[in-house]
Amino acid sequence: MSSVNETLIRDVVSEVLSRLGGAATAPAPAAPAPSSNCGCSTRKVNRADVALRGKFGVFQDANEACAAAQEAFLQLREKGVAARRKIEEIVKALAEKNAEAWGKLEYDETKIGRLDHKIAKLGLIKLVPGVDWLRPDARSGDHGITLEEYTPFGVVGCITPSTHSIPTLSGNIVNIASAGNAMVFNAHPSAAKCAAAAVRAYNEAIYRETGIENIACIIEKPTLDSFNALCKNEFTRLLLVTGGPMVVKAAMQTGKRAICAGPGNPPVFVDDTCCPTRAAKAIISGGAFDNNLLCIGEKEVFVLENTADKLMQKLSENGAVKLNEAQLERLTKAAFTFKEGQGGGCAHASVNRDFIGKDCSVLAQAAGINLPSGTQLLFAETDAKHPFVDEEQMMPFIPIVRVKSVEEGIEESLKAEHGYKHTAIIHSHDVETITAMARALDTTLFVKNGASPCGLGLGGEGYLSFSIATPTGEGITNPRTFTRVRRCVMVDNLRIY
Ligand code: NAD
Repeated sequence: MSSVNETLIRDVVSEVLSRLGGAATAPAPAAPAPSSNCGCSTRKVNRADVALRGKFGVFQDANEACAAAQEAFLQLREKGVAARRKIEEIVKALAEKNAEAWGKLEYDETKIGRLDHKIAKLGLIKLVPGVDWLRPDARSGDHGITLEEYTPFGVVGCITPSTHSIPTLSGNIVNIASAGNAMVFNAHPSAAKCAAAAVRAYNEAIYRETGIENIACIIEKPTLDSFNALCKNEFTRLLLVTGGPMVVKAAMQTGKRAICAGPGNPPVFVDDTCCPTRAAKAIISGGAFDNNLLCIGEKEVFVLENTADKLMQKLSENGAVKLNEAQLERLTKAAFTFKEGQGGGCAHASVNRDFIGKDCSVLAQAAGINLPSGTQLLFAETDAKHPFVDEEQMMPFIPIVRVKSVEEGIEESLKAEHGYKHTAIIHSHDVETITAMARALDTTLFVKNGASPCGLGLGGEGYLSFSIATPTGEGITNPRTFTRVRRCVMVDNLRIY
């Protein structure tokens, strides 16, 4: 900017300020009392209305939970950054200490996924970013210093999935409380008891160590009504939704700002320049993890025809078992239900929930095959229109589709991803192919030459979260996701050089 313009701007600003100063003596119009001096909700809770004490975060009623969380938010504000840091430490330590017990609790309640991986996921909460993530941005120049700080909203309403109930909830607490907020969870009804047990344990420890009660609340018996009440409550400033398409749609219709970690159907494209052994091992470790419940997990593979046989051979050599055509047909009939399309159109397949997250042995039984022990994953050759390609199936089974060209591989990957903009994976050493796929798919996570969890810092660089905000664009959530950016300007002073 030229010095003439700068001078002009400063003159205009000074003129405006002097006029504002003059007007200050005139009687001010009656203005509604602000709910806060900083934009976060500082409204006090009427304690006579609610019984907030001694619940350790577990409530029957959504409005009561929101009132308790609001009070906890105000307590946390009083106690400052040290209390946030303590909460982060407590959640990480308890998740790790209780990984085995809580993993089992969740597995016994949901009966999906793998016990060893449920335990492993809780051991990973220590990798979720916390208080140190919130470094303010600063500008320093001839006109002084400006600081942009990441400040809390208040109460965040959180919806968690059945696929990783305690891990999502634990990671969300670390992110959201590190940013200075409180929260209320509406868990998936089939994973709500384990979620409430973890919430109670976290709150007991947090209360003991900080004196703050109910920083993370939960509705003990979640329903659609409690979801609606949570979204409508005046203290709920923000929503964080982790789940499938229906809940994302519902949250976006509430009128509240919603951060949505939505569904995925991650395609994998394998070209002729890849290392087939590395690709096969990565597909097995990502696709088999927790019986393919992860939203980022490999769900279908498109492979160039020259490499297809080699890739399948390497899959078989590394713990995956191939189904033949008849076995695939039997499994498909069991794993999906088919409804006739309107006007005699194509039948629409929907996933049979009894097969979601089940062990390979359950799928094998439906396919009519005996498995060698230690089988991690099943696979079979299909065409690109197969329901196992099209639907987000969340089973330890991967359809393998041969394609004739890079263009076809990318195009089919794009179709299979359904525009969720979630995750895609490529095994290739051709930078032009890699770049073309990255641009075409436009996903939040794009992993090259590794298993899908590498995208969350588990074998690749980066940090971990179990809530990846895809349709709303916030990306892999972290404490900053749950903050308001506020600017603080000191004019002409405090610059030390
Ligand atoms: P789900 O959509 O059935 O349930 C998710 C949550 O939403 C639950 O708490 C459920 O009770 C609630 N819910 C569902 N429909 C609702 C509605 N109409 N109104 C209000 N609440 C509603 O999903 P799930 O089976 O528990 O989890 C698997 C899904 O979640 C998959 O689609 C997966 O890709 C997605 N997911 C995404 C992420 C991510 O970070 N993007 C992480 C985990 C799971």
